[in-house]
Amino acid sequence: MSEQSSWSINDACQLYRINNWGHDYFEVTQDGHVGVYLNSPKGKKLCSLYEMVEGLDSRGINMPVLLRFPDLIQGQIKELNENFRKAIKEYEYNGVYRGVYPIKVNQQEQVVEQVVNYGVKYHHGLEAGSKAELLIALAYIKDPESYIVCNGYKDAEFIDLALWGCKLGLPVFLVAERPGEIETIIRRSRALNISPNIGIRAKLSSTVEGKWAESAGDHSIFGLTSSQMVEALDTLKNENMLQHLKLLHYHLGSQIPKIRSVRKAVDEATRYYISLVQEGAPMGILDIGGGLGVDYDGSKAANDNSRNYSLMEYCADVIEVVKKNLDDAQIDHPNIITESGRAISAYSSVLLFNILDTNSLTEKGMPSELPDGMSQHLEYLFGVHKDLNENNLQESYHDAIYYRDEIRNLFQVGKISLRERALGDEIFWATLKIINQHLGGLERIPDELQNIEKNLSEIYYANFSVFQSLPDAWAIDQLFPVMPIHRLEEKPSSHAILADITCDCDGKVSNFIDDYRVKPYLPLHNLDKKPYIVGVFLVGAYQETLGDLHNLFGDTNVVGVTLANDGEIEYKEELAGDSVEDVLSYVEYDIKFLKESFRQLAESGVRQKLITGPERRHILEVFDSGLRGYTYFEEN
Ligand SMILES: *Cc1c(COP(=O)(O)O)cnc(C)c1O
Repeated sequence: MSEQSSWSINDACQLYRINNWGHDYFEVTQDGHVGVYLNSPKGKKLCSLYEMVEGLDSRGINMPVLLRFPDLIQGQIKELNENFRKAIKEYEYNGVYRGVYPIKVNQQEQVVEQVVNYGVKYHHGLEAGSKAELLIALAYIKDPESYIVCNGYKDAEFIDLALWGCKLGLPVFLVAERPGEIETIIRRSRALNISPNIGIRAKLSSTVEGKWAESAGDHSIFGLTSSQMVEALDTLKNENMLQHLKLLHYHLGSQIPKIRSVRKAVDEATRYYISLVQEGAPMGILDIGGGLGVDYDGSKAANDNSRNYSLMEYCADVIEVVKKNLDDAQIDHPNIITESGRAISAYSSVLLFNILDTNSLTEKGMPSELPDGMSQHLEYLFGVHKDLNENNLQESYHDAIYYRDEIRNLFQVGKISLRERALGDEIFWATLKIINQHLGGLERIPDELQNIEKNLSEIYYANFSVFQSLPDAWAIDQLFPVMPIHRLEEKPSSHAILADITCDCDGKVSNFIDDYRVKPYLPLHNLDKKPYIVGVFLVGAYQETLGDLHNLFGDTNVVGVTLANDGEIEYKEELAGDSVEDVLSYVEYDIKFLKESFRQLAESGVRQKLITGPERRHILEVFDSGLRGYTYFEEN
């Protein structure tokens, strides 16, 4: 059997680990496409992403596009709430769970609307970290049992808004992040004559591992130390306001990799909670912040891109620890808030782009013989290649590098022609390719040969901007699952890294998920057939608004996808991506001026007889349509 005929869709599932990170939402269809499960009145249905791309293409909506699946936000809200309910029942816990979604994780209107509308059946509220976010929360939350938690730096205006929210019957909590905030809250609530709901953010000594670890511990920027908490208590007592202290909050940081850290922090926080009750505060709510992890690489391991616990384990551990400590202290169980953001929204967005072109260092292959009259060094390098066998891999590697460098040096001083140098590079890469093929058969790969695989990867030019659409992949090396969304019945033939279309050498994705390691390449298919579409998954948290306009690539097209009542795909809430005109105006260009200035250039071209009048008209039309166009590569 040939390799190709022994390849099955199952192999693709294993290669891209989709069943590990896909979380019952993503799976490969029988046609070899990536599918997403969407809900219809008739039940769940696996829908091909590639067919969505075709559907959008026929409607004139181009790549790159961000697909949003509101069903997946619903799925996550449901799962979070039901797991907490289960744990509460199991441990006979007396409080309730009330989640709040932190708006900063994905502030897009469609997302917040979805969270609020669907969340109402669980009284799932919102967390606001700024005035703007509080305004959103006040406008969207209608349910008097859904909490609004205000974190972040608060001025008097912010506090006033929160107080007016309380007066209107919403449970808005003002969490003091700094010692001085308590006084402002007291002052403003007196001025407006509104009773505040006060919370305190504790600076725990428990810290966590991972990329987002700085939110807790002595040097975190937010939260009150134990002595500041004592001061706050004294202030509240002196001002006769202690009866308004109802909530203790902490936030360890995002994407907590280990369940042990979750337990330790809850354990420490309950000590503070108990002490506040013992000091006479009514309390009633323990808000354990965000940090519930997402298993981006599907490894279920305690690393930056995963978590070593299940959602049920998380909920059970929190409830168990709180219950035990409060029972021991004979204090009523508080309601539990989590500010889980990433876990709610990460699954719901998928970034799709087309591959424009590829570039391979090895594509020329090996000449069968050297042309006459080549430099001696090329003969040597050619010899290294000819004599290469599995017993002299390391030696051949050293020799190949030595002669390649010699050839480059000779080119540098003018002793070797451009054609000789090019031939030298081709022989060099062909040699490395063969060394790499032999490595697969070795028991242990020598350290210095381990990077060969990476260096041999082909570059796939992808129609998107890392800076705009995957800022965390650029800024903090976060890994996301990446895979082609079709042709999965076909064995991929290349090892690729992705280069975006910004002209920045950081504009690439060269680390990919794997089991327990980071893979330096992504297996992809050849580009014989276009379009070839690649998806980046789990990008619904933090990626959309952190992105920037590097090289003036703007927002991508965004489309929400659900199933209509008849079970057919429905494209909802299409948001056209930025036009060139849009991004130019973001950086303060005056579009009228640009047009006028270019018109003058064209007009002077006519006067100088460089172009004709009709050509002028055509050129101005091209300029105009360029301004109205998409900022990304448009293939037609
Ligand atoms: C960012 C943030 C969150 C969200 O954390 P996730 O890890 O996304 O769940 C929650 N609370 C606070 C205070 C935050 O700053």
